[in-house]
Amino acid sequence: MIFLNISLVWKSISRSKPSLKYLSTLNVKDGPYNFVDGEKSHPIDSIGFTNVLNPATSVVLARVALSGTSEVDKAVKSSKEAYNSWSLLSGFERGKLISSLGQKISENLETLAQLEVENNGKPIWEARLDIQSCADCFLYFGGIASTVSGKHIQLPNSSFGLIKRESLGVIGGIGAWNYPLQTCSWKVAPALTCGNTMVYKPSELTPLTALALAELAITAGIPRGVFNIGSGETGKHLCCHPDVAKISFTGSVPTGKNIMKLASNDLKRVTLELGGKNPLIIYDDCDLKNAVKGALLANFLSQGQVCSNGSRVFVQRSIIEQFTNEFVKATTQLVIGDPFDDKTQVGATISKAHAEKVLAYVTQSLEEGAIKLCGGERVQMPHPFENGYFISPCILTNCHDGMTAVREEIFGPVATILPFDTEDEVIRRANETPYGLSAGIFTKDLRRAHRTSSRLQSGTIWVNNFNVTPVELPFSGFKQSGIGVECSTEAIQCYTQLKSVYVEMNDSVGVVEHGEHYSFSIFCCIHLFEAAYLLHPFRNLLVHLRHLDSNDLAEADDVVGVDGIVQDSLERNDLVVDLYHRNLRHLCRKVVHHHLHDNCWDRDLDPNHQNFLRRVDHSFEAEVADNHLPSACRLQWVALEVLHFP
Ligand code: NAD
Repeated sequence: MIFLNISLVWKSISRSKPSLKYLSTLNVKDGPYNFVDGEKSHPIDSIGFTNVLNPATSVVLARVALSGTSEVDKAVKSSKEAYNSWSLLSGFERGKLISSLGQKISENLETLAQLEVENNGKPIWEARLDIQSCADCFLYFGGIASTVSGKHIQLPNSSFGLIKRESLGVIGGIGAWNYPLQTCSWKVAPALTCGNTMVYKPSELTPLTALALAELAITAGIPRGVFNIGSGETGKHLCCHPDVAKISFTGSVPTGKNIMKLASNDLKRVTLELGGKNPLIIYDDCDLKNAVKGALLANFLSQGQVCSNGSRVFVQRSIIEQFTNEFVKATTQLVIGDPFDDKTQVGATISKAHAEKVLAYVTQSLEEGAIKLCGGERVQMPHPFENGYFISPCILTNCHDGMTAVREEIFGPVATILPFDTEDEVIRRANETPYGLSAGIFTKDLRRAHRTSSRLQSGTIWVNNFNVTPVELPFSGFKQSGIGVECSTEAIQCYTQLKSVYVEMNDSVGVVEHGEHYSFSIFCCIHLFEAAYLLHPFRNLLVHLRHLDSNDLAEADDVVGVDGIVQDSLERNDLVVDLYHRNLRHLCRKVVHHHLHDNCWDRDLDPNHQNFLRRVDHSFEAEVADNHLPSACRLQWVALEVLHFP
């Protein structure tokens, strides 16, 4: 989830220099913790409080009042009003403001990174990279804002169509705690770029940096109400709110499924960025040193609390011993400690409850037969960290694919080593999971890398690297790891909808005479057939035709489909089939003349029927005489009368 280059050795990762500008005006820790209509505010209907802790010390950082439905209504109303003017700005105008927010984030990088460390427990150097990636995200989307556009399509006789790409409205954003500002930025930046506004609910564990972002957005000139924040049970209310057009969610698979259910009540669109259980494949021809670094990045960044982590470490049998030794050696050298210390490589796990869950997975794995090579224990730290939840990075071996720790997302620093023999075998096993967020491949053979990557069912695949997420590349999940895309120009599709505008440049309203305009002709034919149906036993044909959706006939190619049906249904009627093959107009003509006229005309019909048939006949003749298909409208009208004929 961070933009990290493998050439930076884990231990000697370059530390960003503290920025000079601090958020002097920001003191988000003091609350209040909602941000609506350009200012921090208390919820108008608080439904309780939650304590936000520093995971490294368990000291309470903030006591956050939780919002109820009225507060969510207020935030959505504010965003809805802001949408009226924000959506009318040009992409270029919006882009300038969004880029300016990116600039503000860069300028305040150190303060934001420190806030993230205090609230999340990750090492400071990681937080700096995260915050830089947030700045990059706003700069990137600000840069492409003016390119969000539709298409012009030339239609016959100077008529034309516009395919407009339009914003959706108010977006409900819901984020996770592991990358608090990054999950928020990945939603806010593209959503606002496209002209939407957003009400965002940060994780109740880590609300602070999103709040700081909202304050920065105002200083960057983004109008009030465009980006609002609500804490508490806001997520559920957003999912059900009638004025919210879409939910963009980052979190676990079970919550994602719940959100999809809630959003389905009024068919809201959803983007779901969910968890995974990702494979890291180490082939025997890899650069072993690099592969070990890759395995560290794939398992122990952010205390292993990374959605895209590659915790199923598949290692080719011939190098498994050497790889495992090196991996264990490097892992046991990782420095666990004060997240604010530049030397720290492993910080604090987010909460007591989460740390206990991670450790329970380790215990269960041992019960299921795994062997622990290192870590997997709570590390008791000296004051002031004695109440923090630090877990030593863990490597398990003697694992098999059916083990709980190999199947389920642990979301902690636990790597499982799995031997394999062949390429086919490892690809099959790597794909044997309901998830598909990411995967890694270490090999020097590029053909093997491409073969493997094309067969892996994952949204992101890293070759000879891991957990690198430049904003230019789409980030998305296959299978149960998600729906929709974040980052890259592809994210634009997720925050816009298409509108077709047909512009007629001719005087007559109707269908232009053109070979391509079969659909309406066919439609008319169907009515004529239906007319025949009433009066003539073409039953099979007409039953089929009546069941065809007119959309099915919208393409000229579908004439072939109709052709098949006609063939089936009218086997016995050589004449019609033959005429049909010549062209549609002839078919109509024959239907009218030979079947309505010849077969029915002379029947003993009452005067009304006769009168009607005359009109059908006349209309059709007029069309043929004028050689002018728009008169099909008249035919249709007449044929419709047939349907309603008493
Ligand atoms: P979570 O699913 O417990 O919570 C995520 C958010 O949803 C929180 O803000 C929470 O308050 C909210 N929420 C919970 N129940 C809700 C409901 N019924 N309606 C609306 N909102 C609700 O996830 P988490 O523990 O915060 O984050 C960890 C998970 O997130 C992991 O599974 C991880 O893989 C995933 N994740 C995925 C990505 C990605 O980009 N694919 C990134 C980060 C984290």
